[in-house]
Amino acid sequence: MIGLGFDVHRLAEGESLVLGGITIASTIGTVAHSDGDVILHALVDALLGALGLGDIGEHFPDTDPRWKGAESSVFVTHAMHLLRAEGYAPINVDCTLVLQSPKILDYKPAMRERIAELCALPIQRVSVKATTSEHLGYAGRKEGVHAWVVAQVEPIVGSAVRKEQDSA
Ligand code: MG
Repeated sequence: MIGLGFDVHRLAEGESLVLGGITIASTIGTVAHSDGDVILHALVDALLGALGLGDIGEHFPDTDPRWKGAESSVFVTHAMHLLRAEGYAPINVDCTLVLQSPKILDYKPAMRERIAELCALPIQRVSVKATTSEHLGYAGRKEGVHAWVVAQVEPIVGSAVRKEQDSA
């Protein structure tokens, strides 16, 4: 099963910038109810999407005070629990970030490591790619940042849940 996630957040001066679970040194950051991590938000939607389990807004409404300033890793961990409860786990995730600046090249290894940890995957199965938008559109004007994530999800071999489903 394949899931696709997309997320966008506005950027503003003086806000913090967290991407792929890593805090980036930057004078601009995301305006958000949580930490505004577009990569992890898109990852959650990709994981949920693979099994038709809804979207991040349904599971974590931005009107809920519990999620104010929340680390987005909490959302990924919850999505992983939901997948495991169905007898599934991701086998790879591929992330693309669109951000004009700052450059995140130096942060990519740490982002891959963090995402791999959250998704219980070897680092080789986690891809983090980044591009600018060539100064075009909201990303190019540094008004916003967005990310796409694709996740492939497969049955966990020997899962009790899967055995029940298969014999039903
Ligand atoms: Mg978001």
